[in-house]
Amino acid sequence: MQGVLAMSESPRAKRYIGIDLGTTFSAMAYVDAHGTPVTIPNAEGSLTTPSVVFFEPSGQVVVGAEARAAAVENPDLVVECVKREMGERFYSRAIQGRKLPPPAISALVLKKLKQDAEAKLGPIDGAVITVPAYFDEGRRQATQAAGEIAGLEVLDILNEPTAASLAFAYRDIKRKSDGQDDVLRLADETSKARIAVVYDLGGGTFDVTVLRIEGNNLTVLATDGDVQLGGKDWDMKLLNAAAVAFKAKHGVDPRNDEHVFQQMLVAAEDCKRALSARDKARMGITFAGKPVNIDVTRQQFEELTSDLLYRTESRIVRVIEAAGLAWSEVDEVLTVGGSTRMPQVIKLLERVTGKKPNTSLSPDEVVAHGAAIHAAIEQLKRYQTQQQAAKAAKPKSAAPPTEMKIKDDDAALPMVEVDPNAETVSDGIAPHEGGASTLSAPAISSDGSTIAEAELEEISPSEQYDANDATDVLRAIQTHNV
Ligand code: AMP
Repeated sequence: MQGVLAMSESPRAKRYIGIDLGTTFSAMAYVDAHGTPVTIPNAEGSLTTPSVVFFEPSGQVVVGAEARAAAVENPDLVVECVKREMGERFYSRAIQGRKLPPPAISALVLKKLKQDAEAKLGPIDGAVITVPAYFDEGRRQATQAAGEIAGLEVLDILNEPTAASLAFAYRDIKRKSDGQDDVLRLADETSKARIAVVYDLGGGTFDVTVLRIEGNNLTVLATDGDVQLGGKDWDMKLLNAAAVAFKAKHGVDPRNDEHVFQQMLVAAEDCKRALSARDKARMGITFAGKPVNIDVTRQQFEELTSDLLYRTESRIVRVIEAAGLAWSEVDEVLTVGGSTRMPQVIKLLERVTGKKPNTSLSPDEVVAHGAAIHAAIEQLKRYQTQQQAAKAAKPKSAAPPTEMKIKDDDAALPMVEVDPNAETVSDGIAPHEGGASTLSAPAISSDGSTIAEAELEEISPSEQYDANDATDVLRAIQTHNV
């Protein structure tokens, strides 16, 4: 009876998600009852949401694909790539005469994600939000502030390459264990050190990171990147080439018309995506009421953008040198970010690393999946802390027979660790000093507010969980939402 009372009085169960807050696109995911990371579609049904905010003249705010489309008509009222300005005091351009801090704009993207996730899953309390490994403390804090403004409890700020590696490693563990075995022990058994290189080319930024995965520890050895290089630059190359061709034929530069320019941006990106799948594509624009088509071959596109690709190549070479490694010592090359779908990227990685990159997880979703896995692990740690606190608070003689079994040692968790002291090499970008994701540390104290002791006592023996079994752990997380 005591338990029933406690259940009815207890706070609502909590739910946390993983959010990849990208420069151009964002994605979110959760870990389902089977322990599988699942991408949460947005309200429009898409797996990724443009990180674009449209400040309507009426005062309304629109985020996502609609905001992106609005940029064609209202470029002054639309904010894109705010992530590039995180850590700055104000966004570079005043919107409707107002100077806005980047976290406030980023919070609008996060709020949309939260709302859309809530429509699918019910109330969302918090999230693990990812950032590039080279983000300094100021930019990490700005990201955390954005989450809090959006009404999210920020469980952790996690490095994107760490999240990606975690998702790949977790998938391998789950595959081997078939979801049934003791995957946590398996993580320990496969503790031979591995070196992974994560190549992340998104819409607005590029980074490449070398990680050592050793047992439960994941350490960033070196990271490098370019915050001003991404898929958008590939789009601009196409746009400019098309504009030059147009001018040669029609005598006018279509880029001078802001609306046509915005339209060309969309057409260039569509054309680029098509060229990832086909050898030839067409860029269609409308100028002065007349449709104009520009044909592009993949080879032309690759020649046009070879300098951009070379900029990533020089960073890859530099980062492996900074890590003090030879390519023969690298075990796997992982690809992240939508722009890694371009065949030129895969060809480059094969040539430089001598390895076939692992492209088996969706480059748009893998970071969000890793963040969701990290969130589930963080929840588990809180859960264990609460268990231990509940045990400690109880008189020794009154141990209830139905108490949940959680082993005291959590050392075998498939956890990863970013060593905050690991040398971080970056392109003039401050190394990450704080916000280390030390997941293998002993469970730390949390506010412990979600599970009342009486609730734990009420769990029947058939619901007992073994914290060393991942499926059970995830079931515990799902059921009790700690
Ligand atoms: P992300 O920020 O990781 O979501 O990456 C978004 C970038 O990936 C954008 O610049 C997209 O244009 C680009 N992208 C997505 N799909 C493709 C594709 N099939 N081919 C080339 N680029 C793509």
